[in-house]
Amino acid sequence: MRLFDEHAVLRFALLFSCFLFAAFIPDILNFSERPLNFIPYFTSIVFLAYVSLFYRFPILGNTKKMRDDVDIPEKVESTSVRDYEKDLSEKDELFKMLVDVSSEGFWTFDVPTGKVYWSSRVAKFLNIGSASIVDTFDTLKGNVLESDWSVFKERFSRSLEDNVQFSVKMRLLNVPKDGSAEILVSGRPQCNGEGRPIRVIGSITTAAEQAESSRQFYAYRDALTGVYNRKFFLDKLKVDVDMAAQRPDYTFAVLLLDIDSFGAINESYSMNFGDSVLKIVSDRIRSSCRDNDCVARIGPDVFAVVLHDIDGKNSDEELMPTVKRLHNKVKSPIQLDGRELYISVSMAVVVNRDVDCVEDLLSNATAVLRDLKKGGNHGGIQFFAGGIREKAMKLYKLEYEIRRAIQAQEFVLVYQPIIDVVQGNRISGFEALVRWNNSEHGVVSPAEFIPLAEETGLIVPMGAQILRMACEQTKKWVDMGYTDIRVAVNFSAKQFTLDNMVDDVKRVLTETQLNPRNLKLEITEYTAMCEVEKAIDIMRALSNMGLQISIDDFGTGYSSLSYLKRYPVHTLKMDKSFIDHIADDEEDATFARMVIGIANTLNLDLIAEGVESEEQLQFLKREGCRYIQGYYFSRPLTPDKALEYMREHYSDKVAVES
Ligand code: C2E
Ligand code: MG
Ligand code: MG
Repeated sequence: MRLFDEHAVLRFALLFSCFLFAAFIPDILNFSERPLNFIPYFTSIVFLAYVSLFYRFPILGNTKKMRDDVDIPEKVESTSVRDYEKDLSEKDELFKMLVDVSSEGFWTFDVPTGKVYWSSRVAKFLNIGSASIVDTFDTLKGNVLESDWSVFKERFSRSLEDNVQFSVKMRLLNVPKDGSAEILVSGRPQCNGEGRPIRVIGSITTAAEQAESSRQFYAYRDALTGVYNRKFFLDKLKVDVDMAAQRPDYTFAVLLLDIDSFGAINESYSMNFGDSVLKIVSDRIRSSCRDNDCVARIGPDVFAVVLHDIDGKNSDEELMPTVKRLHNKVKSPIQLDGRELYISVSMAVVVNRDVDCVEDLLSNATAVLRDLKKGGNHGGIQFFAGGIREKAMKLYKLEYEIRRAIQAQEFVLVYQPIIDVVQGNRISGFEALVRWNNSEHGVVSPAEFIPLAEETGLIVPMGAQILRMACEQTKKWVDMGYTDIRVAVNFSAKQFTLDNMVDDVKRVLTETQLNPRNLKLEITEYTAMCEVEKAIDIMRALSNMGLQISIDDFGTGYSSLSYLKRYPVHTLKMDKSFIDHIADDEEDATFARMVIGIANTLNLDLIAEGVESEEQLQFLKREGCRYIQGYYFSRPLTPDKALEYMREHYSDKVAVES
């Protein structure tokens, strides 16, 4: 209830002054002598009276209407007034901040305990199951790119120190099908009365770009990784080429980075997993380059970089530390989905010497990459050198020729005897080795065409032909009475890990009516290590069928003893490179003894390959190696010559049909 109304008082005061005006002014104005003065006098009185009674005065002070229904205590203890206000303001602030920052998912970080609370919608933004949410920032860390996580950490700490709000855009590893690839994580510290942060409150929303800006963004960006796309890369390269044309001292380099066997990553895990690997790789490349260098994704698993304005005009060595650092960073193990993934990345480097157009630069870089891969030098770094394009052209031609040769069935097999020195140099089997009878070039060595066939996938149809030929030939020899002869066929990694590989082998055996015990498959250590679990499953299935498996080129790969123990294999083949100096190099001799020891320990047969001399043979016999393959006994032989060899070296006890 109010005691008085200030408007009424004002009106009363005005009316009173109007009365005084009316009472005393007539004497001053002297109406009797000047009657016209009465007109302004009367008008003024009417005006004042009107204003006093009817004017709507403006409202002064508090505009809020008093509530009659709320009891406001007349007197409150001063301390409780302060607490109440503090409490109210804190809650107010909390509420305001939540509204400010958490239109979608939100999180709070409790400074004293270090615990993070995530609202349930966060799982949706991160595209993870709610079971994966933990009460630390690991929820975020495990689902965004490494470099974004580093930025977040840095901004978060700064925000706590300076008590400022922050926002970080982060790229997700698992992009939701119908969601955004980027999220915006914002936060703001809340402080206590002494100004110390007690918690940070934050939100997670999709980093929604304005429609137009996102359209522009993707016009020159790769949608998956966010680095530039091929088109933009070419434009950027053109700028550097033009610059170099104007300034002869201007040097730049083009790098191509190709993830080796990326298809296998997609096939073994999933496309999503593969996408995450690409994002991590692109992120690593970007963070290893200077800000103004151009990083682009120009193929499914190929990244390109332009290093602008570099030192290194005169020699590749000057650039080597930079490219090595980048290469090392990119290929370091990737932690993803609780797995540790080792990737191999081939890298081509071209500096703008002697080249004056974008096309030449790119085709030189591509030629280097092809050369790296075809040469089996996966995972290496190679600089462009003259002549490489000619070599690349040759490789293209060879690839075409291989395709044609598969159709024309130009591939034939030769057979190299494997000798059992314990049983009086009796022949125990052969290794089938492919040869290409090319109408133009004569007999071509497999060392020239097998790597290319592997890279292009042509090894699959070629390998199928080889397996059938070897089985048909072996069956003929078995039917002649060489019943326990065993023929080993080389299988490349791509062939061995084909999904229907076991069924294919079974079908060929059935169709050629060959007993599986007469067939052996040779895979290299590299193949066995490529996809360990899959390889073991295949080996087990083949072994159960009665086939034998041998590990070729043993000693050149990285198989650890623990792996070797798990492989259901029967034979190790010690690589020729260790045999070469076995008789004159103590280190090689020690290594050979070690391999013989491993084979004995694991109860595996051991074949020494590439034995050429009497000294080598004597050494191996002395150390207990039972099987020998090499020119010392025989070179690879045509089927007719192999039959002749068998006649002379097969055990007398077995009936031989001529
Ligand atoms: P590999 O499987 O390790 O075969 C052994 C290679 O050593 C053969 O070379 C053989 O001729 C050679 N060799 C054997 N003894 C001696 C020796 O005493 N001295 C010398 N200097 N060399 C010897 P080749 O036939 O040129 O084969 C080379 C590689 O090509 C093979 O190595 C194998 O990895 C691959 N290859 C050959 N045939 C096939 C095939 O049918 N399929 C697949 N996937 N790869 C094959
Ligand atoms: Mg072999
Ligand atoms: Mg070998």
